[in-house]
Order: sequence, then C-alpha cells, then structure tokens
Amino acid sequence: MMSRPRKILIIDDSTSSIRILGTALRGLYDVLVATNGEKGLEVAAAQSPDLILLDIMMPGINGYEVCRRLKEDPHLSSIPVIFITAKDDEEDEEQGLNLGAVDYITKPFRLPIVLARVRTHLRLKEKSDLLERLASVDGLTDIPNRRRFDEVLDMEFQRARRDGTPLGVILIDIDFFKHFNDTYGHAAGDECLRRVARVLSRSLKRPADFVARYGGEEFVAVVPGTPLDGTMALADAMRQSVFEEHIPHAASTAADFVTISLGAESLVPHSTDSSEQLLKNADEALYLAKQNGRNQVQTLAAQTPPKES
Ligand code: GH3
Ligand code: MG
Ligand code: MG
Repeated sequence: MMSRPRKILIIDDSTSSIRILGTALRGLYDVLVATNGEKGLEVAAAQSPDLILLDIMMPGINGYEVCRRLKEDPHLSSIPVIFITAKDDEEDEEQGLNLGAVDYITKPFRLPIVLARVRTHLRLKEKSDLLERLASVDGLTDIPNRRRFDEVLDMEFQRARRDGTPLGVILIDIDFFKHFNDTYGHAAGDECLRRVARVLSRSLKRPADFVARYGGEEFVAVVPGTPLDGTMALADAMRQSVFEEHIPHAASTAADFVTISLGAESLVPHSTDSSEQLLKNADEALYLAKQNGRNQVQTLAAQTPPKES
C-alpha cells in the first residue's frame, strides 16, 4: 500500500536552491517544482504532494501566505510543510512554526540534514495518515465507517442550511440477512457485505456523494444538493444494482437473491431542523419498506402518515 514513491513539492524562486535540493531528492522521491507561491498552491491542489519544501521570500505571495492558505484548505492542510529560508531570525522561525509548518531550516542548508528531516516528516505523515484511515474506514468493507458518517452528515447538514440547498439521506438495510448467515455461514455473510458495499459505492457518481457502513448489515448514503425525487431515484438505482448482483439467497422470501430495503429523505434544512430528525425519518421510511415487503424504497415525505398505530 505504501510502495508508491513519495511526492515532494519544492516552492522556491531561487534556481540554485531548486537545483541543489532537486538533485539530492530526485533519486529518492518524485520531485515537483514551482517557482512562485501561486503556482505552488496550484501544483499542491492538483498533485497532492506528501511534503512541501517552502521558501519564504518570493515575488508575489510569500511563503508565510502560501503556508497560511495551505493550512486553511481542508484538502491540503494535512500536507507537512518545511520552510527552507534565508530568513534566520528567531521571530521568523517562530512565525513559520506558528503557521503550522512542521520544521524550519535556514539557508545555507546542509543537504544531509535536509534529507534526514524530510525522511522523518514523511515517516510521521505516513503514520498519521494510517491512523486517520483506521479511525474513519470500516475494516470489513473498506468504505467509511459510522464515525466518519457522523462527521460528514454534520458538515453537509450545516452546508445545506447555509446554502439553502437540499440534502438527501438514504438508509439501507439488507433483507433477511440473519437467514443469509444461517444458510451460507458467517464468512459468506462477510463477503456479501463487502460486495454490497462495493455496489453501493459504485452507484454514487458525484464527488460529494458519500456512503458508509452504518453498522451490522446497514449502510447509509448522504447525497448533497439532491431533492427528494433525485434521492428516491438514486435509492432505487442502488436497490436495482444490488439485486442485479444476483447473490443467491435461498432463505429470503423477498427474492431469490440478496436484496436491500431503503428509506430515503431529503430536505432543505431550516434553523429548526436537525440532522438527527432527518436520519430518524429515513429510519422510519426504511421500516415502512420492510413492512411493505422489502426490496423497495420508501419515504415519509411523499406520503400521508399511516393511520394505524
Ligand atoms: P430484515 O430483513 O428485517 O432486515 O432482517 P435481517 O435478518 O436482515 O435483520 P436482523 O437485524 O434481524 O439481522 C441482522 C443480521 O446481520 C444479524 C447479524 O448476525 C448479521 N450481521 C451483522 N453484522 C454482521 C457482520 O459483520 N458479518 C456478518 N456475516 N453478519 C452480520
Ligand atoms: Mg438491520
Ligand atoms: Mg436486515
């Protein structure tokens, strides 16, 4: 997993610095170069380097500003930044480190020291990436876990409220999965969960669409910017795709194959709405889908509430 060469971005306007650093690093890493701050930010966004060596004094935006913008961007903020600079005042170093840089090296630098520090920070970054992954990815299915879902739902709910855009949520539950385990064994059950997770992930097309394992044999999707009809259509496409996997399920009375039931909801959140309520409605809709015979999508939003208790 960690075998790809690490990518290092040098942002420096001095051609001699670039030449010396580049030559030393090139045998060990993929080296990217930008000769001013604006270009550096562009390359960082496009290439996701593993580490950035950043000069401070440059024409245009200086290194401090580049660092500040990197740390502000959620997609770039975790890239370690090492300042390499001729500014050797204590205050400069303090400012650099306060901006979130992991290290500060003054010019003229000694190459072996630079290489050693680069190596150290790459190793630390690898470890923190792994921790981040372990904390947010489900070990069985390799899709995001419940913890990550909570974060994403919270973030998207706030965003939808701010922007006045709809937010769709789909709760998904495998039908008669207990019988599946009883019939085919727990290992086959695990494999089934992996396949369903893969199919659900593949049915989402937009970058902001998100699906996680909610727990056990339940999954949940978050589809920002999607009103109810779109959310329902997407949910039904998921249902169809899982059915079309044709995973045999002899003990199911819903079909000959593994099927899912889904509860779909969408709303433009107002100040009194909560993500908990949205999720609770999706859960009730899922319950309706189970009641009505499974292998189907239901929503509370489009129908009058059932009269019976
Ligand atoms: P329904 O159609 O009403 O959803 O019925 P169901 O049997 O799917 O629902 P129930 O909640 O009764 O059973 C869920 C089963 O999912 C029970 C549990 O053994 C199984 N399960 C939960 N997590 C895992 C897992 O990680 N691996 C496997 N193999 N089975 C799991
Ligand atoms: Mg369940
Ligand atoms: Mg189930």
